[in-house]
Amino acid sequence: MKLKQGDSQISKLIALETERQKNTLQMIPSENHCSPAVREALGSILTDKYAEGYPGKRYYGGNQFIDKVESLCIERAKELFNTEHVNVQPHSGSPANAAVYVATCQPGDTIMGLALPMGGHLTHGTKVSFSGKFFNSVQYGVDEKTHLINYDELAKLVQSHKPKLMWVGATAYPRIFDWAKLGEIADSVGAYLAADIAHIAGLVAGKAHPNPVPFVHIVTTTTHKTLRGPRGGMIMVTKKGIEKDPELPKKIDKAVFPGLQGGPHENAIAAIAVCLKEAATPAFKKYAAQIVKNAKALASELKKYDFNLVSGGTDNHLLLVDLRNKNITGAEAQDLLESAGITINKNSIPYDPAGPFKPSGMRLGTPAITTRSMKESEMKKIAGWINQVILNPNSAGRVSAEIRKFCKKFPLPK
Ligand SMILES: *Cc1c(COP(=O)(O)O)cnc(C)c1O
Repeated sequence: MKLKQGDSQISKLIALETERQKNTLQMIPSENHCSPAVREALGSILTDKYAEGYPGKRYYGGNQFIDKVESLCIERAKELFNTEHVNVQPHSGSPANAAVYVATCQPGDTIMGLALPMGGHLTHGTKVSFSGKFFNSVQYGVDEKTHLINYDELAKLVQSHKPKLMWVGATAYPRIFDWAKLGEIADSVGAYLAADIAHIAGLVAGKAHPNPVPFVHIVTTTTHKTLRGPRGGMIMVTKKGIEKDPELPKKIDKAVFPGLQGGPHENAIAAIAVCLKEAATPAFKKYAAQIVKNAKALASELKKYDFNLVSGGTDNHLLLVDLRNKNITGAEAQDLLESAGITINKNSIPYDPAGPFKPSGMRLGTPAITTRSMKESEMKKIAGWINQVILNPNSAGRVSAEIRKFCKKFPLPK
């Protein structure tokens, strides 16, 4: 039975969400629109199968085709990111990171990560997360003036705390990471260095951001952000990681299953395989480059309207805007822009005086609108709309109508 007949309530809600996505601009930088091919694999019959274990070593029978699916996914990931070992089973980014702790640390060990209010992720040692509860978490920040990681300060902090595991990765850092320098810093105390490229995986795959693989031991990622796949996670172990600890691939695999998870979501793994094939094409490389071009165009337009950008601009897919000179909070901007058909999110800015519940910033990005084939000239329009709505909240209704019309020229992927 089709969904429409079987469950009209859910069917209607999906139709409404589809219309929302079509008629408005999705500018939350962690979001994207995956291809119908990815969604077809995700919605496939593979969801019915139990496959605890790994290809060739399963606890259940009937996995001859599932094994091929998962192996293909692993091979594609290894090739795309140029790494030695990949686990494609983590249900999402946070479970992938949890597995890295299980593989490399004991409870109480010292770990380091970029603080959440400075652009880091919950799983990098925030107090409310398991990572801050079960480990001795030391958090680093960004420089108060430049908003960049101060590598000299970080090196000192690492020397004094000697972490077992160090995370580098962010949810709201608009600049490039210097992986080589970070590798040296971690090596100076023998720490495991994990690059969490959840946000930028698509940029790395498309060569629009340097690949951390040569410089770090472990790379974790989500598959649904710039990489444009289904919701999911992956953990990679690099050649450098295997040189540091030959058992690391085995430790990672054991941490995922049976350490943290049971049966893998093979439908999601098939969809990840499809997205990895897409991400290896010249078209995807162009897409990744266009994401960055669009973000830079949006940044320069917003600056003309006197918006203050954290770090002064962007090198990747996202912008963090300090709204204090606009007399509007991040939450108000989020609601106002949503009413105008632009979905962004409120976000803390580094050293935010307002605290995490009423942050002073907004975060926006170009992955999803670039998937819809928008280019620099469209960024100009969007910056104009953002400015109008924030200057004059009464214009939201008119802008929303204009955006609805504009969106018809930029359909979701077919
Ligand atoms: C999104 C993100 C995650 C977590 O991903 P979920 O799939 O939401 O659990 C982890 N790390 C970073 C840096 C992220 O941006």
